[in-house]
Amino acid sequence: MMEEEFIYHPLENIEDVDLFYEAVGREKLTKAISPERPYTYWTIELYDKNNGIRGGGGLGVLAADTRRIAEKMNVPFVLITPFYPRETHQKISNGSISDEHTDVDYRDFGFRLIDTVNVRCCNNLCKLEVIEKQFHSTRIIAITEPNFGELYSDTSGSDHRLYQEVALGFGGYAALKLIGLKPAIMQLNEVSTFFAALARLDELVHNGMDFYEAVVYTRKHTLYTNHTLVQAAEAEFSYEQFERFVFPNVKSPAVKRWLSEKFENGRIKLSSITIEIAELKSGVSKLHARVANYHDAAGNKVKFKPITNGIDMNMWVLPEIMDFYHQNEILDEKDFLTENFIFRLESLSAIDIRLAKQRGRKVLNEVLAHRPDHKGNILQFGDNDFIFGFKRRFVDYKRPDLPFRDLSRLRVVLEERNAHYILAGRVHTGDTNMSNKLTGILRAIETDEYLSSHVHYLPDYDEELAYGVSVGCNATINVPIVGLEACGTSWMKDVANWGILISTHDGGVADGSINSYLNVSGANEDEELSMLYQRMEEAINAWESDFDLETLIRQQLADFLPIVSGTRMLKDYLDYLFPI
Ligand SMILES: *Cc1c(COP(=O)(O)O)cnc(C)c1O
Repeated sequence: MMEEEFIYHPLENIEDVDLFYEAVGREKLTKAISPERPYTYWTIELYDKNNGIRGGGGLGVLAADTRRIAEKMNVPFVLITPFYPRETHQKISNGSISDEHTDVDYRDFGFRLIDTVNVRCCNNLCKLEVIEKQFHSTRIIAITEPNFGELYSDTSGSDHRLYQEVALGFGGYAALKLIGLKPAIMQLNEVSTFFAALARLDELVHNGMDFYEAVVYTRKHTLYTNHTLVQAAEAEFSYEQFERFVFPNVKSPAVKRWLSEKFENGRIKLSSITIEIAELKSGVSKLHARVANYHDAAGNKVKFKPITNGIDMNMWVLPEIMDFYHQNEILDEKDFLTENFIFRLESLSAIDIRLAKQRGRKVLNEVLAHRPDHKGNILQFGDNDFIFGFKRRFVDYKRPDLPFRDLSRLRVVLEERNAHYILAGRVHTGDTNMSNKLTGILRAIETDEYLSSHVHYLPDYDEELAYGVSVGCNATINVPIVGLEACGTSWMKDVANWGILISTHDGGVADGSINSYLNVSGANEDEELSMLYQRMEEAINAWESDFDLETLIRQQLADFLPIVSGTRMLKDYLDYLFPI
């Protein structure tokens, strides 16, 4: 087969400084978007295994969904991310958790090598490969080299992380020049991508722009999307680390001086400088944008524009359910919700829901056929089995252990209708607290004959399991400690696939009404726990009654479809970034 020829036009300068000066004083700046001047989206994590890149969680899934939606909406969009040549898989054997590492080759996933670019670190030139893959109006540009390592390897303030972040920022900026693309906007998906904006600022000043004007230029064209709640929790880097990894890549003395002044007691948090370099700032749900506790250099609380995450419904929703949305004019042909979709939802009947779940159950069984549980068993479920799903990263604030606090009560709930409980979620490497919690749960359920045959843990949680469990389960449990979930998108997949949502009122769920799903709340954890079991019983009962099932699912969809919709999310970003 002939390799398609792609011709690139490297640019010495990808900044529209003249346009910027022309526009100063007018409302609009130089943000017009076009194929040569695309929307650029920077992310240290992408969860897009179809293209060879495995992420860690929601941050990466969001990035992949955003690109796919941009493709569907024909938006010129470039996602810049590392290609990690190694990835981790989690194994459980004899009750203990271990990680396995595998090599990944970008050539196996259709990436094309463009050329190499250099970044400087520790007195060395590091040669980075720039690889690219196009998808209609969008593309993924990735930076890689054989020793790039794994996603989130080492600790968050470590040299290796700083190297990865510098390589993405400075290397990615050089890659845009190589390919000849001018960034209309830089969206920084979390502060780990700060160095892309720094590379831009440095380039402007190096090319002769006044430092303060270059700061204005960079600020006007940078969006910082925050996913974290507290600034205090963020890792810091030292001045000495910057001397080895960052300063050698900065050409302008003025930029170097500016950066040096940002250190306090020889340390720096990237959020403090990202806040300064980005005029546009967003949070990922209404609640998160309101409570994210960040302060600028003057001590003022940072305002984040709420743009709630959404999901790429074409990726995460059962095709039969998508057909239903389209045929019943709930979604239009571009996947936007129609004006009277709430009225249209009246046509959704219990029969539709039950049939879709049977179809979803088949898909789940197909996934489970090659994804054994932690005991090595292949699970298969019948059409009439009732399944609760809990699938998300195994981190403390999401409380995967909550339903297991009272095993005898859990058993009573499940026994009532012989229900199953599927638990899936990876423990973060090195998180001994959570790996102890997980092995503790698995040991505890083994002590009860009923639970050991009705609670199933699926190791190595990934997109495939996320999809299978979403389409295949009847009810989903999402119980983060209120105030700690920035948004969460896992529950969105379940709601869009007609599962009953049992949840605390947190993250993106709190964008909706507390009465539109089975809410779990209480003055303390014991109260929350007893309400959780009560809600699980209600979910089981709702499936016994056509009327209750229809009412519940229609109500969830009426409230949450606008929140869940990824096209809504991208439109919100476009309206914010490129106001008419
Ligand atoms: C959807 C998804 C997530 C997002 O999970 P949240 O905890 O809800 O943010 C994480 N990992 C995978 C594999 C997913 O598919």
